[in-house]
This record gives sequence, C-alpha cells and structure tokens, in this order.
Amino acid sequence: MLNGLAAERPATGDSHRRHLAALLRRVHLGGPVSRVRLAEELAVNRSTVLALIGELAAAGLVREESAPATGRTGRPSLLVRPASDAVHVLAFDIAVDRLVAARVGLGGVVSGRLEATRPRAGADLDFVVSVLADLGRALQHGAPAGSVCVGVGASYCGMIRPGDGLVRYGPDLGWVDQAFGVELARRLDLGLPVLVGNEAHLGAVAEHQRGAGVGVRNLVYLHGDVGVGGGIIVGGELLGGDGGYGSEVGHMLVNPHHGRPCLCGSHGCLEAEVGERALLDAAGRPADSIGRDAVRAVVADAARGDPAAREALRHVGDWLGIGVANVINLFNPGVVIFGGTLREVFQGSAPHVRDRIRANVLPVSRDKAQLRVSALGDDTTLIGAAELGFAPLLADPLGAPVPARSR
Ligand SMILES: [Zn+2]
Repeated sequence: MLNGLAAERPATGDSHRRHLAALLRRVHLGGPVSRVRLAEELAVNRSTVLALIGELAAAGLVREESAPATGRTGRPSLLVRPASDAVHVLAFDIAVDRLVAARVGLGGVVSGRLEATRPRAGADLDFVVSVLADLGRALQHGAPAGSVCVGVGASYCGMIRPGDGLVRYGPDLGWVDQAFGVELARRLDLGLPVLVGNEAHLGAVAEHQRGAGVGVRNLVYLHGDVGVGGGIIVGGELLGGDGGYGSEVGHMLVNPHHGRPCLCGSHGCLEAEVGERALLDAAGRPADSIGRDAVRAVVADAARGDPAAREALRHVGDWLGIGVANVINLFNPGVVIFGGTLREVFQGSAPHVRDRIRANVLPVSRDKAQLRVSALGDDTTLIGAAELGFAPLLADPLGAPVPARSR
C-alpha cells in the first residue's frame, strides 16, 4: 500500500539504511521493478522511493530504464534494474572433483564461468588456491571495462569456521584447519576478504533465494556429491548451529549396526548409505567408476530397465527415504530439495523415498512437505557462493568497503 495520505516521518539513519538495503535486495533478487511497485513493497511514499533510487543510482548500483513498449499509449514507465554490467562478485565452488569460478553480476547474472578439474586426492591448499586465483584473475580481466568487484564468495565441500573461512574439516581433500579463505584472498589481491561457506548451506540459501524454495520459509536442502551435505532454512534463516557446523544431515546415523563405513570414521551415516560409492557398489559398478557421470549413468540405466541399476536405486532410495523422513519429522519443512547428484538419484528413486515418508513421517508433517529437485542445477552451490559475496553490499549498500575496479 502506498502511504498516500499519511505524512511519513523522516527516516532515521538506521531506517534509511534498511530501506536502501531492502530496495537493492529486492532489485537484486527480484529483477526489474517499477517505482510504484517498489514504494508499495517497501511501504514508503513516492518521494522517499525516488530519493532511495537516486542514491543507489548515484552509487552505480541501479539504473532506471524505460519498460519495453506494451502497445498502450501514454508515457512509458521506468523500471529500476540492477547495474549487472557495472557491479560483480567473484564466486568459487570447490567441489570434490572440480574447481569452478564465475563472475556474477548484480542481479545474479553469470557473465563468465571457468572450470578446472582437480585430482580427488592429494590436492593441497597451495594447489587449490593457485588454480582458483588464476581463474579469478582471468575472470577479472574479462569483466566489462570499469565493472567493480564488490565481493568474493566461495563454496567448500567441508566444515567452515564462520568469519575467517578456515576449513576446519574437509574429509574429501583430507584438509584439517587450513586457512583457505585468507590464503585465497591474499593470492587474488583484490583488497577484499574471501567469504567461505559450506556447500550445502550455500545451496540451501541459493535455492531459497533463487530456486526451488523461493517463498518457502522452512526448507531442507540435501546436496549429493561424493557424500551428502545438508542445509536447513528455518523461518527464512539458515540454521548454522552454535559454531556454524550444523545441518550435517549426511552424518545422521541411520544404520549403526550393519552400516557402511563413512569418511567421518563412523558407520551407517546417511551419506555412507546413499552417497556416490553406496549407489555404485549396489549397482555392481567397478571401483574405478566414480564421479557425477557414473552416478547419473546408473540412474539413466535404471530408466532404461537395467535390473541391477533399478535394484540399486530401490536400495539407496529406501535409505534416502529414511533420512528424509527423519528430517521431516524434526523440522516440519514446507519443501525438501534434492540437489547435486541427489537430484538425479531422487528422480530415479522417488517412489521408494515416498514409501518411507508415507510409512514413517507423522501425518501432521507429512501432508505439508513437498519434495522438489534443485532448480539451479549444477550451479546451486556456485550461485550460493555468489550470494555470499554480495551479502556485505546488500546489507549496507553505501557503506561497503571500497571495491576493486577491473582494469
Ligand atoms: Zn559420517
């Protein structure tokens, strides 16, 4: 509602900053929007919204452009849009067998993307950050002239200490207490910190903001790579836990007495029963058959009627259903989202997952929870890293540190 008749009190410093932040976030996540709509959504009057737009435009963060002609007569209305070619972040995704880097413009536009493979074993900190820094420099070099890098975010397949990007524990690379964020920032030399998050936490945020969970206040995101990561959004906020290491759904104990060994040292964790190796072993694939393509091949073979692949998906789907039933009972989510390789694994085993949910979830929660696959595909965690990079700017659009300009 426009505050048409009500006299609006002058905004205090804090509320002005909040309005600037809300406006930029709205344009960043929701795309081009009219002044009138912005005023309605922010619940401010017309002069206030014009002043806010003016400040963000002067800072080079938004632009006003004519809306495409609709054929109707009258003045074309102006749309406020993010300055995607003038403001960007660098985003990095450190996954089990690949290193991905992207330049992402304000508004979430991926304008450059580079990928390198990495060995599954033996990739130390120096190797990983030197490859990533090379990719980052190439992306900076290719940015539109004058575009400003306002942040750097990275998604890592392990447990990250909030604040400084220290990898506390990265089971797949064998990393313990590695100063990943600080070292990558030093090598990139952009004068910006590298903000690092756990891949499934960032995947949950990305799907919540831009993917299969938009508008859902409570969701669970399950990310499959070699193992299984979890990200849980409660009341619109990521559930980090006391130290930021929460939502480790992959290490939920589901089969303690007869379970497969887990990378964490335990037995019968959810990821040991539904992860990459569990599926490939169940399908009778050789030990050297690994990776996303191998997992997706099992799902494709099952769809073609291959009996061993179908049985493997039934077996893994049952364990996945047990895990999902537990998280639905615990968190009463509106949506459970399957991402990474679990996207295909779920698609190939959905009837078995649903059987478990029917049998084991309390009816009050069962009726509410929808099961969806990731809408952002293989880039879910990369997009989450980009959002982490944008976070300081979005929190305080005019107070963020002086950024690095390309070339
Ligand atoms: Zn485990």
